[in-house]
This record gives sequence, C-alpha cells and structure tokens, in this order.
Amino acid sequence: MSITDQYISLEKKYCAHNYDPFPIVLDHGEGVYLWDVKGNKYLDMMSAYSAVSHGHKHPRLLSVLQKQASKLAIISRGYHNDCLPRFIQRACELTKMDMALPMNTGVEAVETALKAARKWGYEVKGIPENVAEIIVCENNFHGRTIAVVSFSSEEQYRKGFGPFPKGFVQIPFGDNAALKAAINKNTAAFLVEPIQGEGGIVVPAEGYLAKCAEICKQHNVLMLCDEIQTGLGRTGKMLASWHEGVTPDGIMLGKALGGGLLPVSMFLAKKDVMNVYTPGDHGSTFGGNPLAAAVGFEALNVIVEERLIERAAELGEYLLTKLRQLTSPIVKSVRGKGLLTGIEIDTQYVSGREFCNALIARGVLSKETHETVIRLAPPLIITKEQIEFALVVIRETLKDFELRYQRSA
Ligand SMILES: *Cc1c(COP(=O)(O)O)cnc(C)c1O
Repeated sequence: MSITDQYISLEKKYCAHNYDPFPIVLDHGEGVYLWDVKGNKYLDMMSAYSAVSHGHKHPRLLSVLQKQASKLAIISRGYHNDCLPRFIQRACELTKMDMALPMNTGVEAVETALKAARKWGYEVKGIPENVAEIIVCENNFHGRTIAVVSFSSEEQYRKGFGPFPKGFVQIPFGDNAALKAAINKNTAAFLVEPIQGEGGIVVPAEGYLAKCAEICKQHNVLMLCDEIQTGLGRTGKMLASWHEGVTPDGIMLGKALGGGLLPVSMFLAKKDVMNVYTPGDHGSTFGGNPLAAAVGFEALNVIVEERLIERAAELGEYLLTKLRQLTSPIVKSVRGKGLLTGIEIDTQYVSGREFCNALIARGVLSKETHETVIRLAPPLIITKEQIEFALVVIRETLKDFELRYQRSA
C-alpha cells in the first residue's frame, strides 16, 4: 500500500466518516502553498474556507504563537489575562462595534449571537418570555450545532438530528419584502450572511443588505451579520456589510480571526445588545485564552499592515474579470466579491467533485460546494502571478472536460 493509502485507510478505520476528503494527504504548508506526503506541491485556492486568509504559517503569526505559547497559553476566563483586552479593543475598533465576546469556533459565535438576541428581545425590547423569534434566510450556513442546523434549509444537515428548538423563521435570501412580512412584535433579530458562502457564493442584489438594515431599524429588530467567512477583508472590505454602508447591531467573526493557526471566533455588538450578558450567563473554557488572543490580535494587525483588504479588492476584481472571460460551455456563471469567488458549472459535463479532482491533479486545491459551485478563495496574500497559474489550470481543465464530453457524445 502506498504511504498515501496507508494514511487514508487508517483515518477511515478510526475517524468518523463525517467528511469525504479528496484522496491526498497534506503534511506541510507555507504561504499560499501546500505539500502532500509524496512531495507534490499545490496552490491553495481554498484556504480552509477563509480560515487561512493570511496564508499558511505566516511568519509574524507563527512567531507570536511560539512566544505566547512559551509564556502563557490557557487560564480560563476565571482570571484576567494580559492579551485579551487589546485583542478585543482592536477587533471592536476595526469593525466599529462597542463590545465583543470571545469564543473559539464560528458556530459558537453564532450561538452567542442567538442567545444575546433572545435575551435582548426579552429584556430590552420587551418580548414576552419564551416567544422570541429570529428570522434567518433559506440556503444559509451558520454551523452545525443542533440549534443552528434546526434553521438550515439543507435536508441532510437536519435529518436524524431532531427534535429542534423553536423560534426560528426562514425567509428567502435576497428578498426584502419577505423580511418585512416575516417581522412581528416578537421578532428579536434577523440573522444573515452578507454573501452566502457555503450556500454557493450567492451575492444578493445591490441594495439588499442596506434595505434589510433599514427594515430592521424601523421595526426595532436586531440586524446580525454572520461575517465568519465574509469578514476580515475577504470580500475587499473589512466587513462585507460595509459594501452597502451597513453597520449591523451585531456581527460574528471566526475563521481568519485565528490567523490560520488557531480556532478563534467572537460575537461583537453594540453596547445595549452585549450588556444583556451578565456573569454566568454564557461562556467557554477556551474562549479568550491568552494564546488565542495574542494570535488573534496579530492576525488583525497583519490584515491592516499588509493591506490584505486592499489586495482582496484588487486581486479579486482581477480574478473575477478573468473568470468572467471564460468561454467554456461548462461555466454557467461566475459569482463573487473580492477573493470570495465561485464558478458554477454545468454538471451534465462534469460533477463538481470530479472537476476539483482534476484541478488537484494539476496542482490547484479547491472544493465544490452544493455539488455545482467550484469555490476559489485563496489566501489574501496571493499574488497576481499565482492567480494566473490558477487561471491557466482552470482553462486547461475546462478544455479537457469539454473534449471528453465531445468524445463521449
Ligand atoms: C464556517 C462558517 C460557520 C461555522 O464556523 P465553524 O468554525 O465551522 O463552526 C458559520 N457561519 C459561516 C458563514 C461560515 O462560513
């Protein structure tokens, strides 16, 4: 058995089968590149769903991680630490929020937002106990806990995991009238991704988010933006909601917040929302630990100092322009903003999975979402030349499948 097959069969035997990974075994990375155990080099156009916006083992982040790990790593929030304050302050300043609550994974930040919204609904808005509603969008992705999958429209995410908590209302994404119609006196919040990432890089029509913000304000409903994937520069602004001049009442950050080294997330909000939390209401053993806070703080600084947001805007525009020039019949549409882009393919030619396998064989890592969308979301440190390489590979791969289709027809 090859070394690759050995790793894969061992993992298959002992690891739960909740993923179906591509058959390569990666063992190191640097910048925009990853290598497998056989020494093959890949351009990472996936960056762990935006968690690796800074690139793999960014030198500044690695140095902070090593220094802080050798000093103090985990103490719990039962004591103050000297890393959390400046991390939280920086995150609030950069996102124009008043306060933040640190967690670890994205879905925990979402749960934190949902709990805050409900409590705000009861204590501030005056909704009668236990009837608060939160409006969400169809085709959403906010994580995998029972509460969060309860309002997913993806059958597989829910099936077998009920019973589910109540109080969530689904409306179509991109539909302002539906939001207006769904709001009633018990509505506490509207939770939305400015661009649906896992849903297939779905960019709503211009003006959608701004109108949502206006509707929420009119009805005293909190606007909560899940910026876990779209935030921190990915779409060419610090927050994707800023493309429409929206300042939400609360946002969720995760993924890139950990600098590609650690799971770090947070819920950030305006004071009157965050202040519903009192000691003992909510927490996390690891949330806000010194190691995560030190790395998170440096991750934010790197985004600003290395102009990653500006890079995402410029290079994203370039990538999108080039992708839109693809003439292949396989390409149904090209979508995205900044360096969060996707190609929707016509699966009568090739499945998303097969297409990604072909990209991998040519040295480009991507992953399909919803079977038909090829996600292209590289680290924000990527260069124009590296994007060019990806484009060459994509064009070759498209051509290859066109020819195969012609031959089989
Ligand atoms: C990835 C993601 C999450 C969940 O983050 P985890 O760290 O996997 O829990 C939530 N919301 C959005 C928009 C995401 O992209």
